[in-house]
Formats: sequence, C-alpha cells, structure tokens
Amino acid sequence: MIDDVDRANDLADAERAASIAAILTPVAARARTNCIACGERISDARLAAVPFAQHCVDCANTAEKLERHRR
Ligand SMILES: [Zn+2]
Repeated sequence: MIDDVDRANDLADAERAASIAAILTPVAARARTNCIACGERISDARLAAVPFAQHCVDCANTAEKLERHRR
C-alpha cells in the first residue's frame, strides 16, 4: 500500500525528471512551443533567448506592459 508520503515522493521524482528532461531536450524538439495565451507558435529565436518561454513575444510584451501599468 502506498501512503501519502510515498505518493508525494513519487510526484516530486516525476517533476524532477520532467524538468531535467526539459533542460536536456533541444528547444526545437520540445512539444510546448506554442504561446499559452494566444496559441501562436513561439519563435525559435525567442526560445533560444528564453528557453522556458511560455508566451510569444507579443503576449510577453503585452503582459509586461500590463504588469508595469499595475504598479
Ligand atoms: Zn501569444
């Protein structure tokens, strides 16, 4: 029987393995290359500059502006 601690450890191991895989996987081979906001493909240049970018340049700029506006 697996208790909660074991389950938490399994989850942590899986997360660690996933982040290591993300670091080792070439940018071009990654599945997540689409903007999480608009769904547009994130350019290779942007992924090269920001390997873990989740937004395209446009959405990143918009988010940045909104962020600045909020302050
Ligand atoms: Zn976008």
